[in-house]
This record gives sequence, structure tokens and C-alpha cells, in this order.
Amino acid sequence: MKSNLSSPAVKTDQHTPMMQQYLRLKADHPDKLLFYRMGDFYEVFYEDAERAARLLDITLTCRGQSAGQPVPMAGVPFHALEQYLAKLVKLGESVAICEQIGDPATSKGPVERKVMRVVTPGTLTDAALLDDKQDSLIVAIHLLRGKLGLAWMNLASGSFRVLETDSQHLAAELERLRPAELLLAEDFTPSILQQWRQPIKRIAPWQFDLDSALAALTQHFATQDLSGFGAQHLTAALGAAGALFHYVKQTQNGALPHIDSLTVESVSAYIQMDAATRRNLELTETLRGERAPTLFSVLDQCATGMGSRLLRYWLHHPLRDHDHLRQRQQAVAELMPLSAQVVEGLQGIADIERITARIALRSARPRDLASLRHSLQRLPVLATPLAVVASPLLQHCLSQLPTVECPIAALLTSAILPEPAALVREGGVIAEGYSAELDELRNIEHHGGEFLAELEERERSRTGISTLKVEYNRVHGFYIEVSRAQADKVPAEYRRRQTLKNAERYITPELKAFEDKALSARDRALALEKQLYEQLLDQLITHLESLKALAQAVAALDVLNTLAQLAQQQHYVCPEFVSYACLALRAGRHPVVEAQVAQFVPNDCDLHAGRKLLLVTGPNMGGKSTYMRQVALIVLLAHIGSFVPAEAAVIGRVERIFTRIGASDDLAGGRSTFMVEMTETANILHNADEWSLVLMDEVGRGTSTFDGLALAWAIARALIEHNRAYTLFATHYFELTRLAAEYPMVANVHLAALEHKDKIVFLHHVKDGPASRSYGLQVASLAGVPATVIRQARRKLAELESQTVPAAVDDLFTAPPPLAITTAVIEPHPVVEQLRQLDPNELTPRAAMDLLYQLVQTARQGDTQDV
Ligand code: ADP
Repeated sequence: MKSNLSSPAVKTDQHTPMMQQYLRLKADHPDKLLFYRMGDFYEVFYEDAERAARLLDITLTCRGQSAGQPVPMAGVPFHALEQYLAKLVKLGESVAICEQIGDPATSKGPVERKVMRVVTPGTLTDAALLDDKQDSLIVAIHLLRGKLGLAWMNLASGSFRVLETDSQHLAAELERLRPAELLLAEDFTPSILQQWRQPIKRIAPWQFDLDSALAALTQHFATQDLSGFGAQHLTAALGAAGALFHYVKQTQNGALPHIDSLTVESVSAYIQMDAATRRNLELTETLRGERAPTLFSVLDQCATGMGSRLLRYWLHHPLRDHDHLRQRQQAVAELMPLSAQVVEGLQGIADIERITARIALRSARPRDLASLRHSLQRLPVLATPLAVVASPLLQHCLSQLPTVECPIAALLTSAILPEPAALVREGGVIAEGYSAELDELRNIEHHGGEFLAELEERERSRTGISTLKVEYNRVHGFYIEVSRAQADKVPAEYRRRQTLKNAERYITPELKAFEDKALSARDRALALEKQLYEQLLDQLITHLESLKALAQAVAALDVLNTLAQLAQQQHYVCPEFVSYACLALRAGRHPVVEAQVAQFVPNDCDLHAGRKLLLVTGPNMGGKSTYMRQVALIVLLAHIGSFVPAEAAVIGRVERIFTRIGASDDLAGGRSTFMVEMTETANILHNADEWSLVLMDEVGRGTSTFDGLALAWAIARALIEHNRAYTLFATHYFELTRLAAEYPMVANVHLAALEHKDKIVFLHHVKDGPASRSYGLQVASLAGVPATVIRQARRKLAELESQTVPAAVDDLFTAPPPLAITTAVIEPHPVVEQLRQLDPNELTPRAAMDLLYQLVQTARQGDTQDV
């Protein structure tokens, strides 16, 4: 069987004519599954059949023989095409769809066929294949004389962008763009792509040629050169853009009129985040690769898919420009009192962006146009609430909205039926009154019904056959049916058309004449509807620019309004931007964790030129990671123009965010936890500067104690002395807290906890000063480590603590330690006293909760001293 699965090596002319045609078409699409239309099915043959059968879980069979061998075949019914495509595209496959275009009645040999559509993961535009809330991008990468060029296109929105950078930034860019499909020259494989799991398309290196790219792009944009786009100085990026443009154009089998400009992206416009940071902050995906809970999942209350996608984009593209951000803030503030009305206005608005792209690609379906019409008719209501706004951003959005006299809406109303059929080929799409010719043809078809009823009545009485029926079917056309028993009563001019078991079917000259007229009227009406629909698309294509602008305005309005709603519901405040070094957060919260816990404890953060590194200590589970991430997320939210979860926030210049958080083994990449940790750290030490925010969580944990401590110490010093970034440095090495005495820029903070014997209560409250001790044993006990083990550990700990601190550790510090490393002298505290007298087993969960609040209050009020 194996030999049958591969395309046969025999000469083409030994195949059947149909297989010859198939093999010719397949030769143009060797890397795609070729779906070959056969009547009501799409069939795949040879290797494709084997692959499709496996991927789609459909039966692999044979379609006869060709060239002396059975032809392996699998097929799917034509009406289920979309669902199979969706499955294949998800699996990263590309599919070429080949339709019958000739007339089976007149063609000799196989009907003429042509590949009408190519579906690839990065060039999707069908509503059924796209995720509402996520863009699907195709990215081309090209390396030219040491420069890395990237070009990417979102075919479903019409955006086309380029960027030129250094190869070292490739990982970060790919993490930011998250391409659905990559386009590379056959001879180019950057090392980081060895782990790449998304589909990669290989094309010939010459396709990246710069001169051809310039020629193709200037021809498409009808410009002399690319200086109007600020792209004239680019080389590698234009090579990538040219290859990408050519590839996408081929998949669409035609023009791309909605790709109407090329945007050169400037890295310096955004806060830079490396790949690890984007992942660690769980912006749009959790570390485990799930969709929730993430910052995006918590924020996204957008009414439209366009809004959700733009919000996702904003989260990955925080802006540096304070003026631009203040404009967004103004818009958010002004929308707060209006948000309910705006949501109502946006409800049920169709995906104008994607419908516009489908109009441009001429693949818009009748129902796309009907929902576009509905949206255009509905959107003017937004003008009323927005009439009062002063924000220039909102005014711009408002100016893009359609008015009640929108010409596109009027055109669609006159052209398309209120509830059109799903497909143009079914008819029932074009409205009455739009074309006199169509109305006339439909009239003939329609009055046919009356004629047939009248004929049936007349023939019954004329022949006296009461069971006589006039009917129609697709194969035999119109006929008069008479039961076998009464067949001898039919008049002489009845001619037999078909004999059934119990009945005879006849045709008469009168019925035949009617049939010719009706059938041709129906065929002509269908053909005319198709033609009118194409003309309508032509007309709509002249409005692409305003439709695109409208889609962008609706998306922006939706996101800004969502931010306004959040600000109200979650009590976010407007952050103030300043130009000096400052990160002052009053009662900040973690936007995602706060949604998950019953009572979130807010915390301050103060960083400025004189205080740039916070050493964060405290027990495991005390809230260190949460605290650090919340600072980063608040900074990030501020830089998309959002209000932030805090009581007040003053934020200075921030240009990059770096994180080294969490232990993640990159086993697939062959790197241990420690190796990953050090790679990320190296990146931070090389690239962070005074306008960077750096989060370091438990660095040095992955190696032996002294190794780790020495490394953590040296890294912290480098960050203070060399990078001078805003830094939050969480560590379980208490020895490091002595750095605060050495450097005025370093301060200690800790997460407070209360302990009693083997029990511990986390307060999640950030306080000044170092934590007094580690709570490892208590946390272990909390986690259910058996009491005997804990007791043994306690004895061992006492033994270790009675020994002197190794001289090696002391040597790390130049000055004598101003803060003695103590194993906390525990003074009895009222709270501790209270806790001592308690038996937790006696408490109900409710009582425990109440008590906890009371204890926290006591602890905060009194002359607080942590245990
Ligand atoms: P650490 O990094 O110190 O081990 P985490 O930051 O992972 O601790 O926090 C542990 C858990 O404590 C979190 O999952 C969260 O449920 C809770 N938590 C952390 N910070 C707070 C807070 N400020 N308020 C309430 N709960 C918190």
C-alpha cells in the first residue's frame, strides 16, 4: 500500500485524463493539501489523502485505478468544507481549493478546474476560520548584510507593517507578534526558530530580492517610490515585505486593494519587553499557555471583536509618549459617565474590519453585507452620547461614524434583501426593486406556481382523473403524474416521460413550453443576481478607505470605553506622568490576583532617583511575586492609557520592562532551570538602563546555596552600580538585605507574616525593613509536610543557627554588617499572645476569617513589631 500513497513516479500520460488534470494542478501546490472538487465532494488523492485522513479522522479509500495502480482517496462533502478547513488550519496545514469552472454538459474529458482559493494559517479572512478576539498574522523574516528585516500582514484587517532591527531581537519580536505563519527563504533558519512550532513556509531566496520588492510594492501602491511611507531607507525589511506581498497575493488569486499603505514600525515608540517578560507577566496567556486568567482576560469587556483585538494589541504595545497617553486618559475620563450608553451603541455591531477585508478580497458573503448594513444603520446612535465630548481622540472617532444618511448603508438597503440567503449562488440575495430585469425574471418564476395549479385543475376536469398531479423535480423537470390504474384514461397528446412502479409521468406541449420559460427564467435570474452582486462589490470597494477608518474608530472607541468601565467598576485611578525618575504607587493592587482572592491587601511602592532598588524579603507564599508583578502591571496599564488599580500613581519615564520571574525549565530547548534563569539575567544585565523597570524574583535559586548567594549578591550590585534601573529584587538570601547599608539607593521591604509555633499567617502587607527571618518550616508545615519531619528540621535548624555565619558570606560585604543577621528575637506581642491562646481546630472558617481581620487590625494599630 505504501507505494500507492506517494504520487506515482510514472509518466503523467499513463494516467487517466482526470488524474492528469489533478497532477497538473497539484504540481503548482506541492506543499498544500489540494482539495479537488468532484460533484458534491472535495476529494484528496495520494499522499494528501493519507494525510487528510489522518488529520481529519476520515476514511481513506480508493478511487479506481490510474496508471495501473489504485488511487488512494479521501473526501469531504462540499457543504462541510469550512469545518474541515478550520480543523486543518488549526493544525497548521495549508489548503488549495480547486473548483469546477467549466460546464460539465459541454466539456469533453474532465470538467475544467482551477484553484480558486488558497487557505493558509496566516492569511485567513473567513469568519468561520478566524478567532474573533485574536489577529492572525503572517510574518516574513529576512537577513540582509547583518540587518534583520521583518514584514507582517494582517490580511483580515488590511494592515501591512515592516521593521528593521538586530537579529538578537528576533525572539522578542516573534513573542510580540505571535505569527500564525512564518515565511522564510529556504536557506535561512535562525537558531531560535529550531523550537518554532507554528507553520513555516519556505520560499526561494530570490523572492526576497530588494529590486523586485520595490517594483512590486510601488506598482501596488501606485507610487514613485516608498518615501511617502518613510520606508525608502529600508533594505532587509523591504525584501521581506516584497516576498510577503507576493506570497499573500498568490494565495488570494488576485488584488489586495485594502492593503493601502505600508507602516514602518519604530521600536522606540513602545516600551520594550523581551520574550520572557511578555510571558512572565501573563499579558494574554498564562505561563501554562491558557487563555485565562491573564491581564487581557480580566480587562476584556469589549463589545466587539475589533475592540478585543485592539486591546490585545495595546497590551503588547505600551506607548512611551506621555502626551499620547494623556490623550487616551482624557478619553477614558470623559467616557466614564457615558460608558453604559456607549456599550449599548456598540452591542451587536458586526466585525466591520473583517467584512471590509472580505469585500476587498471579493469573498464577502451576502450576510456579511446585511450585517454591515445593520451596523451602519445602528452606529449613528452613538453620536448622541458622544456629542458632548471634548477629547480630541473621541472627536476623531466620532467624525468617522456614519451618519443617518450614510451612502453605503443606503446602497446596501436598496441592493440586498432584508434577510438574504447565505450564498449568492442560491439566489434570494438581491432586493426587489434594485434591478427591473431581475424583478421581471422573478415574476415569471413566481407566477409559474399559479400557472401550475391552474393547469392541474384544468387537466383533472378535462381528463376526469382525480389523482392527476402536476409536479417538478430536479432531474426530470416538470411532469404530470397519473396513477398506474388510471393511466389508460390520459389524452393522446400526453407523452410518457418516466414509468414508476405505481405511476406514470407525462409531459404535454403546453407544460414543456412553460418548463423552458420557467427554467430559463430561474437560471437567468441566478446568473443576474451573481452579476449584480459582483457589481455591488465593485461599488463597495470604492469605499474601502472609509470603512477601514470606521472599523478603527469603532475598535478604539470600544477599548477606551472598556477602560472607562473598568476604571469605574474596579476603582482604578488616573496615573500622573512625570518626566523624572519616579514610581510612586499608593495602595496598588494586582489586577488579576485581586479578582481571585476574597480580600486583596493593597501595597505602596516608592522608587525614585535616590531609591532605585527594593530588596523584597518575606516568607514563601507571602506575596512577593504578586507585589512585584503588580508594580509592573500597573506601569504597563498606565502606558496603554488605562487608569490603574491604585489609590494614586505617579509614574516617570519608563522605556523597558525586564523580568526574571518564576522557575521554568525549557526542557524542550535543552536548558535547565538554572540555565534559563542565567540567560534571562544576562539579558537584563546587558540591556537594562536607568529608564528600565527590572523585576528579579529569587535569582540564584537554581544552584547551591553559596553559588546562588554569591551570584545574587553580584547581580544586585551590578544592577545598582551599573544599570541603575528601577529594580524590585526578591530574594530568600537574607544576607543580601545588608546591601541597604552599603548603598543609599537600596531599601529593604518585606512581606509581613505572623507566626506561632509551626503555624503562619500571611498578611500580604509590604512593610519597610528586612524580614526578620525565614519561615520555611512553617510554610512546609502549612503545605502538609509531616510533623515528624518538621520537628527534625527544627532541631537541625537550631544546630545550624548556633554555628557562626560562615566567613565566606561576611566577605561578600565590604563594610562590617550594620544589620546583624539575627534569628529573630521574639518579643511577645499582643497579637502573638492572642494567637497562643487559640486552638485553630475549634474555629469555624467564618470565625477564623473574622479573627484574622481583627488580628491584622491590632497588628497595624499597636506599636507594631513583626514577629
Ligand atoms: P511569594 O512570591 O512570596 O511566594 P506569591 O506572590 O506567589 O508569594 O503569593 C502567594 C499567594 O498569596 C497568591 O497566590 C495570592 O493568592 C496571595 N496573595 C499575594 N499577595 C496578596 C495580597 N496583596 N493580598 C491578598 N492576597 C495575596
